[in-house]
Amino acid sequence: MKALDELTFDNRFARLGDAFSTHVLPEPLDEPRLVVASKAAMALLDLDPAVAETSVFAELFAGHKLWAEAEPRAMVYSGHQFGGYTPQLGDGRGLLLGEVYNEAGEHWDLHLKGAGMTPYSRMGDGRAVLRSSIREFLASEALHALGIPTSRALCVIGSSTPVWREKQERGAMVLRLAHSHIRFGHFEYFYYTKKPEQQAELAEHVLNLHYPECREQPEPYLAMFREIVERNAEMIAKWQAYGFCHGVMNTDNMSILGITFDFGPFAFLDDFDAHFICNHSDHEGRYSFSNQVPIGQWNLSALAQALTPFISVDALKEALGLYLPLYQAHYLDLMRRRLGLTTAEDADQQLVERLLKLMQNSGVDYTLFLRHLGDEPAALAVAPLRDDFVDLAGFDAWAEQYKARVARDGDYTQEQRRERMHAVNPLYILRNYLAQNAIAAAESGDYSEVRRLHEVLTRPFEEQAGMEQYAQRPPDWGKHLEISCSS
Ligand code: AMP
Ligand code: MG
Repeated sequence: MKALDELTFDNRFARLGDAFSTHVLPEPLDEPRLVVASKAAMALLDLDPAVAETSVFAELFAGHKLWAEAEPRAMVYSGHQFGGYTPQLGDGRGLLLGEVYNEAGEHWDLHLKGAGMTPYSRMGDGRAVLRSSIREFLASEALHALGIPTSRALCVIGSSTPVWREKQERGAMVLRLAHSHIRFGHFEYFYYTKKPEQQAELAEHVLNLHYPECREQPEPYLAMFREIVERNAEMIAKWQAYGFCHGVMNTDNMSILGITFDFGPFAFLDDFDAHFICNHSDHEGRYSFSNQVPIGQWNLSALAQALTPFISVDALKEALGLYLPLYQAHYLDLMRRRLGLTTAEDADQQLVERLLKLMQNSGVDYTLFLRHLGDEPAALAVAPLRDDFVDLAGFDAWAEQYKARVARDGDYTQEQRRERMHAVNPLYILRNYLAQNAIAAAESGDYSEVRRLHEVLTRPFEEQAGMEQYAQRPPDWGKHLEISCSS
């Protein structure tokens, strides 16, 4: 266990120099206070969880203090936003404070979001509000607990600093951890500004630090791109299987590590709805729930374009061709497991699709249906779940197909079936209304609800005593919350 001043820094991105990032000091927030910290994320840095309660902790992660070895930098990147290219974006309100090694030799970027203005702030104020910082924190740690690759969050620090959005709010900072903060948009920036040397330097950096095994391949850059395609296919398969809607899949929000990144107006589905749009500025539904799959490929094509100086177009196309089949394989595998199946049959895809269509038409709670499907033997489980469906004949036909499929699947006890299904079907997910309750309390100075919700979400598959209220469908007021895109 380490104290806060015992972290080991090695700031490799900063060493790439001024073409890649700009030195900027964080602008401190007034009266910093700990809102919530993640013990699990602290463990990634070998930090003693007790240090979260110290005033130095809040001061460090609200920009008042810095380690001597930290080298805060704002990174430059660009990206395609809603399909259109924006030539320059960059860290407009976040800083890469430094890169830290833990005792296991793992490397973590420390990124402070909400740290004030940078040369990339454009029209923004460089700040993040408490509401959006809490949402990013909870989402990072909740997705991780579900087994979905994601950036992590160490803590949220609140303050008394006023920040103006639709109304006056309070500034906050969230400390994000990731093995890298390099986005598709980093490669796009150097490609479109025609800086081939920096482009190559960036590619070497990513290859050496994040894809060293690709060096062994005849075409290392191609092997790296293929790996990025594979990781994205797997990540998006998990989003779809767990009902996670990212909301702003611009290429500047896509990580070269294939992790979920940059949380904005995201949402988990309550009722299953393939057409769900969580981002209220997304009028066309470009980033609707079901569009996430083709958009994943679109984004990878945008990255491929930026890699054309290194890789032949034919090879890039071939690698892109891996995306859909890989996505489908991962998705189906996970959905089979969610249905409690241990073997594969060709008709399983149709079994899944029929169920989703029935759920869609009846507005059935996606998470709770799958959770309760594992509570009893298949034959008994479907009976109480039937009540949620409007098309009873349709559901009965599906249930017959499902029960027959389970009977063919294997010989296991109900206890084994429950255990196996509950291990992949969460009881607790980050429903928008739960986040909203926690935020409302935090905005009035009570952080206990954020902390409790975070605790519950760190063990989403495990039934927790006294936490029934976190495993319910949303009340009427919480069903169609308009989550503000301003953050
Ligand atoms: P996002 O929608 O959070 O991915 O942000 C898109 C771009 O706008 C990024 O370059 C951000 O750094 C920048 N940005 C978002 N909010 C602010 C803000 N309040 N101040 C400065 N820049 C911002
Ligand atoms: Mg972003």
